[in-house]
Amino acid sequence: MKLDPAAQQRLLQLADLERRIAAGGDAPQQTEEDKELAKLTERRNRAQRSAASAKLAVTDMEAEILRIQEDERRLRARERDDKRQLTAETDKEKRRDLEHDRYAAKSRIADLMGELMECHNEVHALRGNYDRQVQDLQELEKKVAEAEAAAGAAPAPEDPSARVDELREGLDAEVLAAYDSRRAENNVGVARFNGRSCSGCYMVLPAADRSRIAAAPADELPECPNCGTYLVRGVA
Ligand SMILES: [Zn+2]
Repeated sequence: MKLDPAAQQRLLQLADLERRIAAGGDAPQQTEEDKELAKLTERRNRAQRSAASAKLAVTDMEAEILRIQEDERRLRARERDDKRQLTAETDKEKRRDLEHDRYAAKSRIADLMGELMECHNEVHALRGNYDRQVQDLQELEKKVAEAEAAAGAAPAPEDPSARVDELREGLDAEVLAAYDSRRAENNVGVARFNGRSCSGCYMVLPAADRSRIAAAPADELPECPNCGTYLVRGVA
């Protein structure tokens, strides 16, 4: 097929675009700003979940501390009560029971004090972690807001089918007919020849075919001997 080199490039653009669309690439393309926004939103959502679970860990530990303090109060009251009863009690056996109970309460209080100290250390660390998570979250909220503004200001992505129409309008009817008919046969129609292989079937062509294609006039579209695709040479 005869075609001037500029029109060849245009036809190649059309063929490449239609192949992309046929391969499922015709979904509305996201702008870079949209992609950035989606990425930041995802990070922000992760940070939100992370901050929520950090908050929960703090709340749980605070509840644990209250429980220990409540146990401690109860045990101290029991210990005081044992002590008070011992001042009046004269029965030997009852005194022994009271002393035993007082000892058990004191020993349990000592254990609780150890637990309480650990919990205080832990809640301190958990609160520090929560504060950091909140700070991260606030920074991400700010970035998301900025990305939203940028995405809103960005031009809408190009509609690929509008570009197809535009490319087709710039090409002769018989050229399009030849391309469409070849494309109906092999799903490609027109592809780039990179000097070694056909970009339609990806076959590396034998040396003789390569030199025949290279030697064809610039306004000629040679065909791939393997798949029949029209080959466009040169750089876009
Ligand atoms: Zn081919």
